[in-house]
Amino acid sequence: MGKVWNFKQELTGAFGKPIAENPTQYMIEAAFRYHGLEWRYLSLEVDPSGLEDAVKGARVMGFRGFNCTIPHKVAVIEYLDGLGESAELMEAVNCVVRREDKLIGENTDGKGFVQSLKELREPVGSDVVILGAGGAARAISVEMALMGATRITIVNRSQERGEPLVDLLSSRVKVATDFVPWTGDFKVPETTNILINATSIGLFPDVDARVALDESTLRSNLVVADVIPNPPSTRLIQAAREAGCQVIDGKRMLVNQGVLGFKYWTGVDANPAVMHKALGEVFDE
Ligand code: NDP
Repeated sequence: MGKVWNFKQELTGAFGKPIAENPTQYMIEAAFRYHGLEWRYLSLEVDPSGLEDAVKGARVMGFRGFNCTIPHKVAVIEYLDGLGESAELMEAVNCVVRREDKLIGENTDGKGFVQSLKELREPVGSDVVILGAGGAARAISVEMALMGATRITIVNRSQERGEPLVDLLSSRVKVATDFVPWTGDFKVPETTNILINATSIGLFPDVDARVALDESTLRSNLVVADVIPNPPSTRLIQAAREAGCQVIDGKRMLVNQGVLGFKYWTGVDANPAVMHKALGEVFDE
């Protein structure tokens, strides 16, 4: 008897537009190989007009799950069968998981951040300042509130995005919160434990863009985090290191949200060092 071959690979991927510069495929497939899984992760460019068909396609082709990125994180919800707790609160999905024959929307962006934070400090009881009020800020703030942060201050340029997020945090997640309009250089209050840049400032190629912050208020007892994964060593991260703060860069957050998605899809605890190394091959440090 010859060997019985199985050429069918399990499918995962990402739906987004643009998608070509998203390194998740490289990171996740490195982990599939390391863990000996015959799985694939495909970077799929999906136009908003085709999202419904793309989700139907994923269903009939038996995808085990897929990530959603810009601009699909909210729009995908109506094509799914249910949502996890934090995705429901955030009203945004970045990771779809097939459970039996149902497609369930989860959000790993905030959970990936919290996992990175827990490597340094417990989130319970923390006083957090978040710069930004977009998708990343929404995910991180909801997850930090669920993990027991006692106060969350949202600092954002536009009130139209800042105020609804503060309303969501106080009414649905029940955390003390306030909105500060971002004008001039923000001074970090003395009571703050954790400062997070959740804006897109500093993302490649605009690596010299500056987060408007009074850097003399970066005290050494602060944890300073930046969501920007590329380059990981942003101007803010560099300034925080110089001030003696503990730092969390966006690459660590990206790895941790990848580890969580990997676990949702495969049931396997991926080795984060393998993903970290893969991203190191793609991003300039
Ligand atoms: P959004 O477009 O939803 O939000 C962008 C936010 O940045 C808004 O609050 C916007 O403010 C603010 N902003 C942008 N430019 C400026 C500026 N010049 N000055 C002040 N505020 C500014 O984006 P997302 O939240 O989805 O993504 C933000 C970043 O997070 C991206 O760079 C993305 O790569 C990163 N990210 C990283 C992840 C990781 O795992 N490391 C996961 C998810 C996202 P306003 O409302 O005033 O326009």
